[in-house]
Amino acid sequence: MILTRALVVLIAAAACSCTGAGDPDSQSNNETTGHVRPKLILQITVDQLRGDLPTRYYERLGEGGFRYLWENGIVYRNAHHAHANTETIVGHATLATGAHPSGHGMVGNLWFDRETGFITYNVEDSNYRLLTEDADVDEDAEIDPSQRAARSEGRSPAAILTSTFADELRSNTGGNAKVIAVSVKDRGAIAMAGHSGTAYWFSKAGGEFVTSTYYLDRYPDWVIAFNDAKPAQRFAGTAWQLLHEQESYLFGDSDDREWETDVAGFGRTFPHSYGDGSSRYFTTLLTLSPAGDELVLDFAKTALVEEQLGADDTTDYLSVSFSATDYVGHVFGPSSLEAEDNLLRLDHAIAELLAAVDQQVGLDQTLVVLSADHGAPDSPGYLNSLGIPAGYVQPETWDRDSAIDRIKTQFGITGNLIETYSHPYLYFSADVRNDQRIDQEALEAAVVEELSKFPGVSLAVSSTALRRGNLPDTHLYRSVVRNFHPKRSGDIFIVFEPNWFINDFDGLTVASTHGSPWGYDTYVPIVFVGAGLEAKTVDRRVETVDIAPTLSTYLNIKAPSGSVGTPLEEVVN
Ligand SMILES: [Zn+2]
Repeated sequence: MILTRALVVLIAAAACSCTGAGDPDSQSNNETTGHVRPKLILQITVDQLRGDLPTRYYERLGEGGFRYLWENGIVYRNAHHAHANTETIVGHATLATGAHPSGHGMVGNLWFDRETGFITYNVEDSNYRLLTEDADVDEDAEIDPSQRAARSEGRSPAAILTSTFADELRSNTGGNAKVIAVSVKDRGAIAMAGHSGTAYWFSKAGGEFVTSTYYLDRYPDWVIAFNDAKPAQRFAGTAWQLLHEQESYLFGDSDDREWETDVAGFGRTFPHSYGDGSSRYFTTLLTLSPAGDELVLDFAKTALVEEQLGADDTTDYLSVSFSATDYVGHVFGPSSLEAEDNLLRLDHAIAELLAAVDQQVGLDQTLVVLSADHGAPDSPGYLNSLGIPAGYVQPETWDRDSAIDRIKTQFGITGNLIETYSHPYLYFSADVRNDQRIDQEALEAAVVEELSKFPGVSLAVSSTALRRGNLPDTHLYRSVVRNFHPKRSGDIFIVFEPNWFINDFDGLTVASTHGSPWGYDTYVPIVFVGAGLEAKTVDRRVETVDIAPTLSTYLNIKAPSGSVGTPLEEVVN
């Protein structure tokens, strides 16, 4: 049964007045910290935005988006996630909590629940159904394998084990701070809203924004009105077109590459047609393009106004997680014409969001932080074309049966050895784990040795050895330790060679897949802007766990319960 089906985790120019100057008379100083107490914290997360990407096409960006942030902000150019499994919920939860996965518990988009005996999707919760009928994941049209693995339509943050910055803000203000989080992905919104805010995400089945009964008993009127306007339908009969002349793009002469994925007729070349809106894949295609970010942007702008965020002296919190960069990166690769155009359009979306915040609240009254849940590898085809080693790992070609037989003979195991492999974790069967006659550490060491022989495997880490601190003190091992939660992590953590990864999304072949502890996956931007901060570039290595305690320290409130990061001195001093 070993590795029969790797459950690979999906992982997965607007004008802006943005002066940042504002009216000094309207600013309220925090006497303890010396800072302007912002009326709004705006946390922007771009899914799969590797640290080099915001400035890759810098001269072609508009004025109000990335350029505004990079030219007016404190820019950390050497920022990394410090955990090994660089997947979406893991990164979002880390940004929100300042904890490593070992603390917040989100060790992967999926994990095997040893109590229930099922693979668990990180934010599924059968106690809290969706507030909208027929908005559950459409398993036939869903290309995100981790969402498809959920066994319930219900969603909540219950599996996040520590508090988030937003929770601490709500707690500090007696619940007066308003907290709203928006994303195409449920997990991109739920992690950031924490346990006490309100999360909204895009239901591909319903073509509208939804939440669950964890958050609300009924939708606010503005959400009903937003959805009644059928926001997705404006893309019916249209196509994703290039923003500029094709010749002007870095990848203008390489639109059609063999490693790109044609999802449901979306094609490998521009224009990418969304169809007439009748296909069951219609809304999925929207999320594989800048349209997904435009929908999120529109919903976030509406929330900003209708919820009166930043309107009074209590600091509010708005999280916007843009997912298109991730899906476009997976389907076409981060170095593709599609990814290039998507970046330029994301720049416009961010500019529009900042302009809306400037108009509603004032950017001088807002602390903006931008980062990413993880980076991304380039597609092996692209890297190979430059002579750089890279490739796809194919666990189905490994000689697993022989390896299993050897181990079973050695340890006298008669039943199943492996329960499941949900990359990066390999879980032993309950019978093997509960067998007192078996030396678990020796068994894990034997499996590690066999795994290390398979092509593409760089490192396999035994959980028992890790629990006993019996491993070399290297960067890679430390990142696996930070990812370890005793109830959720598997018995073995598998790390592939750099630029090698599984590209099978449970049947759909994709161009690239993040999720490793290697630099391209851990490297993300961190930028803080606004509320009196002076522009600065910092090249010291910092970590994403630093963001939440930085926000807490800036506001002089308690850091989240599992926070282990260090407040960034350039922001808080
Ligand atoms: Zn992601």
